[in-house]
Amino acid sequence: MPPLLEVRGLNRRFGGLHAVRDLEFDVEEGRIQALIGPNGAGKSTVFNMIAGALSPDGGDILYRGARITGRAAHAVAAMGIARTFQTTRLFPQMTVLENVQVGRHIRSSAGFLAGLFHPPWSWREEREIRRSAMETLEKLGLAALAGTTAGTLSFGQQRLAEFARALAMEPNLLLLDEPAAGLNMHETAALATLLTRIREWGITILIVEHDMSLVMDISDHIVVLNQGAKLREGRPAEIQRDPEVIRIYLGDDHA
Ligand code: ADP
Ligand code: MG
Repeated sequence: MPPLLEVRGLNRRFGGLHAVRDLEFDVEEGRIQALIGPNGAGKSTVFNMIAGALSPDGGDILYRGARITGRAAHAVAAMGIARTFQTTRLFPQMTVLENVQVGRHIRSSAGFLAGLFHPPWSWREEREIRRSAMETLEKLGLAALAGTTAGTLSFGQQRLAEFARALAMEPNLLLLDEPAAGLNMHETAALATLLTRIREWGITILIVEHDMSLVMDISDHIVVLNQGAKLREGRPAEIQRDPEVIRIYLGDDHA
């Protein structure tokens, strides 16, 4: 069996800036894998290329051994790769349940637009989607917020609702870009528990995150990016004491 995801010789330039260079890594199924590195290292750019939001200039991305390089975002999502963004992107006027239903539609035959316009021919499917969206909210302990307008939720609740929307797509691979950003200590602890539960449900996670104690706690494997290139990869204990990793994060004095 090939790894769930393979990144092969990936490159991306923005004008004169070489944002991602010759990047190679695998994501094994069933893992929580972290992609870390200083600001501007290229982490979000890598996510955007995996998710089909941005085309690489060179290299390949393979999912279950099949080339997905340059495919459109909706096609990548339909294959089972879901993502959350660095900034929250819920529909603020819609309820939590409606937002989650939009996620569910991406993997249903009714499609994304039907999720917004509810044509009469898909009523039965609509009911089924509503039921499964509700089930996802229950799994995440968010059922009580189903009817709440998304825009009125606290920041931490919005992040959870985004998770629910991504999980409603029934992904095999979940890409999370800085999910702990802006969360308080309690919310971050709850997030750690939630992510390990998601792994138990059989969903593989690739996470970009700045909260190092969260990363070290939950990751099975870590890839370190610096200036677009891979600096190191390994288990949390190896990465944590690596002098080069310490140097790029803290400067020469600490290495
Ligand atoms: P990270 O997520 O690791 O902080 P990014 O992937 O967002 O880093 O950015 C990597 C580098 O590429 C940064 O120098 C950033 O300014 C640049 N960059 C990212 N997106 C664009 C873009 N659309 N146009 C120009 N430069 C970009
Ligand atoms: Mg980023």
